[in-house]
Amino acid sequence: MNEDLRAHIARNGLTYHIETYGCQMNAHESEKASGVLDALGFSAAGEKREADLILFNTCCVREHAEARLSGNVGALKEYKLAKPGALIAVWGCMMQQPGAAARLAARFPFVDIVFGTNQLHHLENMLYAALIDGKRVLMAEPDETIIEGMPAKRSGASAFVNIIYGCNNYCTYCIVPYVRGRERSRKSSDIIKEIDALCGTGVTEITLLGQNVNSYGKDLEGDMSFPELIRGIDRSTGIKRLRFMTSHPKDLTEELIACYGSVKSLCEHIHLPVQSGSSRILAAMNRRYTRGHYLELVSKLRARVPEIAVTTDFIVGFPGETEADFEETLSLVREVRFDAAYTFAYSKRALTRAASMPEQLSRAEKSERLMRLNALVLDYVKQSSARYLGKTVEVLTEDISRMNSAELSGRTRTVKMVSFPGTAEDIGKYVRVGIDRVSNHTLHGKAGIDPGVKGL
Ligand code: SF4
Repeated sequence: MNEDLRAHIARNGLTYHIETYGCQMNAHESEKASGVLDALGFSAAGEKREADLILFNTCCVREHAEARLSGNVGALKEYKLAKPGALIAVWGCMMQQPGAAARLAARFPFVDIVFGTNQLHHLENMLYAALIDGKRVLMAEPDETIIEGMPAKRSGASAFVNIIYGCNNYCTYCIVPYVRGRERSRKSSDIIKEIDALCGTGVTEITLLGQNVNSYGKDLEGDMSFPELIRGIDRSTGIKRLRFMTSHPKDLTEELIACYGSVKSLCEHIHLPVQSGSSRILAAMNRRYTRGHYLELVSKLRARVPEIAVTTDFIVGFPGETEADFEETLSLVREVRFDAAYTFAYSKRALTRAASMPEQLSRAEKSERLMRLNALVLDYVKQSSARYLGKTVEVLTEDISRMNSAELSGRTRTVKMVSFPGTAEDIGKYVRVGIDRVSNHTLHGKAGIDPGVKGL
């Protein structure tokens, strides 16, 4: 069967294009889809509309991503008319919501394949059905199997590695547990084997991924806990930089805090989503920690590694959030002095408890608070960047800078973006950069020039 599919793809020189929405988990799912398609003989298209197969990897965490997806799929009606043999596939979280796959298939009859987040391992069979048998495929039943050994197309010296799927937390605003299912950890031996193999291909930086990495191992009998996994990876592989996301404050243990400063590869950065500075709102969000507990975690982390970068997520305008609650969020920003924060206005998600809570805030109130929060966050981002002036930092070069093609961009261990003059040969390498200028989020400097003060 697959030989027929491979022969068809090769004979017609088929190409693909993937459009990804949402988080790093989705970005990595798209790498896996590319890996499957490359293995079947597809090649990547130069332009979306030149592709023979267009895939949309969807997100349902925010209303905005859903609206964009509908617009972008709808806009392909003409493409499908002009290129009748071409295929359109839509998959991912949004398709895993009850009834969503059927609704999308009915609304866009020119979409050929629709499937949920955990069905990527069936992609080959779905393509066979669509390309060889000419059938329309709709597959969005929940599936919680962990599939090992799927190919993934990665590029560069940084790679994502999933360690746990799903989430058991049911924060009241979040749809993830409904679409990604219960927590399922991969075996530590499989994770370490994958990282070891990646190190052999030139990868030197790994980000461990999970909706809540701190739950890692709780569902596995006799396997490692998350801190043990971190130490195990550091001990057994040659990885130079290790990161993880996302970490839930309620599960951040002393043992994990102790990894900072003692595990050599663990970078001096933590992304610790707080969501609100008001304990009352945190309770309504079912976050199961208080403002005080969060502050305690940050001071323990800074006591171990004073230069650690702390980044976070905020949701403003959660149902019932008063001006006083919001002021507590602002005062938390002042107290923690975050190095960066992703900020969002609350948006109602079907199935979640918060969607039916009374006291929903108006769009105008949410926008006004978001603007005030962003302005304050930016003050601290600038202060954080200014601390690097005159220091020399170690940068893992990622790419040509998007702002200036004569420059390269990369990140410090503390996740600061750095831009400096250089050439493409240095992509993937570690470079010492002396910082002589900072803009809001980016540090600027020159490679190999050391102003004399050692930084991170
Ligand atoms: S921890 Fe909360 S916010 Fe994060 S994925 Fe789970 S339910 Fe959503």
